[in-house]
Amino acid sequence: MKKHKPYCKNVKGGFYVEEGCCTLCSVPWVVAPSLFTVDNDGRHCYVSKQPENSNELEQMVEVVHSSELACVRYRGTNKLILRRLADSGEARQCDRLTWWRRILLWKSGRTKGLSQ
Ligand code: SF4
Repeated sequence: MKKHKPYCKNVKGGFYVEEGCCTLCSVPWVVAPSLFTVDNDGRHCYVSKQPENSNELEQMVEVVHSSELACVRYRGTNKLILRRLADSGEARQCDRLTWWRRILLWKSGRTKGLSQ
């Protein structure tokens, strides 16, 4: 399994930007400007604030979903956040989800969709 290295300036917490993959895509400052910051020298963005409410979580999930090169990841274990990311098709961005848990989440999501 590939080990993902967080950029050194990410704030402590679940979401992080991976080191060295930034193309300055501008998604974070359009979608979630209060959660991301760009380095002073303008070469890398990083998570400067973790989401603290449902609105900020939705903004973060949108960034994870839309950023170039899949550089925004989740290393936490919060089940609601893992579920939210899996539901938006971003289970691969979760460091703590093993392949079989991803399948279980995917299957339970399909089952839920079929019953509605
Ligand atoms: S989301 Fe990724 S590519 Fe876009 S600015 Fe942030 S680190 Fe760079």
